[in-house]
Amino acid sequence: MAEAAEANPSAGRGRTPGRDLATRQTPMQSRHSRREVEFEIYQAGLAAGLGDSRNLPLDTHMHTVYSPDAEPDALLDAYCALAVERGIAELAITDHVDFDPLAPAYAFSSFEDRERDVRGAAERWADRGLAVRFGVELTYERRYEDDIRDWLRRHPHDFTIGSVHSAPGSVYEPANVAAFVAGKTLAEATAPYFDEVLGAAQSGLFDSLGHIDVVKRYLVPHVMPEQFAAQPELYEPALAALVESGTALEVNASGLRQLPRETYPPAPIVGRYLEMGGRAVTIGSDTHRLGWFAYALASAYRLAASAGVEALAFRRGGARVWVPMPPGPAEEV
Ligand SMILES: [Zn+2]
Ligand SMILES: [Zn+2]
Repeated sequence: MAEAAEANPSAGRGRTPGRDLATRQTPMQSRHSRREVEFEIYQAGLAAGLGDSRNLPLDTHMHTVYSPDAEPDALLDAYCALAVERGIAELAITDHVDFDPLAPAYAFSSFEDRERDVRGAAERWADRGLAVRFGVELTYERRYEDDIRDWLRRHPHDFTIGSVHSAPGSVYEPANVAAFVAGKTLAEATAPYFDEVLGAAQSGLFDSLGHIDVVKRYLVPHVMPEQFAAQPELYEPALAALVESGTALEVNASGLRQLPRETYPPAPIVGRYLEMGGRAVTIGSDTHRLGWFAYALASAYRLAASAGVEALAFRRGGARVWVPMPPGPAEEV
């Protein structure tokens, strides 16, 4: 949206890293809700063809109605029908599981219900050539690490994502974020988020680390994505921990329909991870509704291919497997 950029013309250009972040009330906030602005971004993407990803091997990040923030049309069989129609060969269903009793996905759905439904869909769709895997997206916080470890031991999944989200009452909640960032440098403003990401990467608990820089979304319009791009060193401790623990870096396409309007993370960060010795990458749409099925997934594949990714890291309940990148998207860059 041009509005955000116009409202914050100095963002990312001419601001010296390390200078304090200003807080602003923007036209975006006063005229539209964030949700409305993101709907406009989504629709503009549809017009540009982002809704029509086809012939891809894998989407590793998908939510159904078993996630509290999914829409009622986020139904497993509807996703499977679209996957067959569009040639998306394999899906990992990764509904939310939270450990903070105040968080929305705490005890929202049971392991048994989720597993039964996903395994049932896997059986129903196997003869149509579609593979459906039982995954989960766990919200990571250091204070729950022992609980998560214990729970994962008792609840095996085919594939697991660990993600840091804005916890209830966090400094990144819309009501708190302006006051929190005022007077802080970008490093200070992102420190609570990236510290939890570092913990998730070091923990070795997960197959993949979800949307490594979704904090960009929480910080718009006080901080714009360009400011992150100017300080890639903010990512480096977490990237080094991913390499060390063998956890995959996720390229999450949802940022292309959200305020940052770029993947989590963007291509230069994927490239830096590979330079640092990282190999394991996953790609997911993070859909929460039928209309977001595989949205911008082909863009995320092209981005990963352009950064140098040759195969995706995945797991189907056993050891890690490697899924070759399709030749098409890389050639279209
Ligand atoms: Zn998430
Ligand atoms: Zn998600």
